[in-house]
Amino acid sequence: MEKYAVEVWENCLKVIKDNINFQSYKTWFLPITAVKLSEKVLTIQVPSQFFYEWLEEHYIGLLKKTIKKELGNEGRLEYSIIVDNSDSEPGPYTIKMPTGDKKATINPAVSMPYDLNKGSSKEIPNPFIIPGLKKLKINSQLIESYSFDNFIEGDCNRLARSAGFAVAGNPGKTAFNPLLLYSQTGLGKTHLSHAIGLQVRNLFPEKTVLYVTTDQFINQFIDAVKSNNHNDFVHFYQMIDVLIIDDIHNLAGKDKTQDVFFHIFNHLNQKSNQIILTSDKPPVEMKGIEPRLLSRFKWGLSADMQLPDFETRIAILNKKLYNDGIQIPTEVVEYLAYNINTNIRELEGAYISLLAQSSLNKKNITVELARQMIDKFVKNNVREISIDYIQKVICEYFKITVASIHSKTRKRNIVQARQLSMYFSKKHTNSSLASIGHQCGNKDHATVLHACRTVNNLVETDKQFRAFVEELDKKIKF
Ligand code: ADP
Ligand code: MG
Repeated sequence: MEKYAVEVWENCLKVIKDNINFQSYKTWFLPITAVKLSEKVLTIQVPSQFFYEWLEEHYIGLLKKTIKKELGNEGRLEYSIIVDNSDSEPGPYTIKMPTGDKKATINPAVSMPYDLNKGSSKEIPNPFIIPGLKKLKINSQLIESYSFDNFIEGDCNRLARSAGFAVAGNPGKTAFNPLLLYSQTGLGKTHLSHAIGLQVRNLFPEKTVLYVTTDQFINQFIDAVKSNNHNDFVHFYQMIDVLIIDDIHNLAGKDKTQDVFFHIFNHLNQKSNQIILTSDKPPVEMKGIEPRLLSRFKWGLSADMQLPDFETRIAILNKKLYNDGIQIPTEVVEYLAYNINTNIRELEGAYISLLAQSSLNKKNITVELARQMIDKFVKNNVREISIDYIQKVICEYFKITVASIHSKTRKRNIVQARQLSMYFSKKHTNSSLASIGHQCGNKDHATVLHACRTVNNLVETDKQFRAFVEELDKKIKF
């Protein structure tokens, strides 16, 4: 039986291979394994939810045709998705979803843990489900993939992450209450706040955790007032053990909602229940929020999150690739991480665009393709590297002054710093050799050429020197 599934799938693959370009075939079909054939249903295993969605979006027609060809008109395909469930139950296990009319056939309860029970994902949970019952059964709206496991730690987010981790291990009992995470957009506030909620749920299943966006909170409140359920609304929130409210700056100007939130906040705080807030600014800079609320936001810890450095960006991309079960060349990952330094959401967006470009235009995923894609889609993030800046970085590294590079001195380390400045200026700027020479100690173009050759020769022949140049290169790029 098992073998038959493999055979059927191999036959399908032959057809598929003839119909799409090799790179897409390699990316999207080679990682698939056939696991079962029963009746007319072939089950294939795919590495991730993302993978499944991609196949359904881009290859459903082809898949349907080939399955019909192999198994007849009744033939159907089912996906089995590898779920990394290491956090909770002993995994990995698989979940199944039949193919066909995509949205209609996915069982939301299984495949989309963050979808609300019914209706569109905009719908907010009914706060008044089981009034009077001590143990609330609510949809906590947590997104499973936003876990600590999937959250890469770097200097940029260390404080926020450790505070979050501490809170998750001891909700309401640490000094970090409320915990306020703030940063510009796309730097992981939402992700981290979910991670805390998920971790609490793992460690303390009896605790009620709720994630809401501030907009949801506002709308719920408006609805509650309209339907005379104001008290139910307040009681509901006062029963939550760990309350996560995302983008709290959106409360600005909503006086009535601020008022009700003030009372909920006080109640939860008195009971030592945990409150986690996120915001795009620190409390001192928030506008349109009552002072009494602002002062409460400062009771616990406000932790900021910064833009991740190059290495962290690479680690984030690699984690994503790994989770999605996708392989792309290391130099492409580095290229993306290097060039997209605005925020992580854009980095992820660029990576998805790149996959799309490669699949749809039938091109290999290469640095060249990434470059074209970035030129087209991701503007405004090309940072100009100037000769001055290069000199500054190099001099800092050598612990010498920039003036010494401009001087006539022939001291060994200064000569080397000067040559390296020329070399990197040639590499990273569009300046002519003459102008580089002029700015690096008033030398002529031949000296610059000689410097570049010397550095290049050393890079090629001396491993240690190469490592050193690469390190400097990274420092200059960031
Ligand atoms: P914010 O709420 O600050 O706007 P998000 O939490 O929505 O940002 O993060 C944007 C995207 O970047 C999400 O897909 C998230 O998973 C990802 N991300 C952010 N920080 C990290 C991190 N440290 N490790 C892995 N992924 C991250
Ligand atoms: Mg967010």
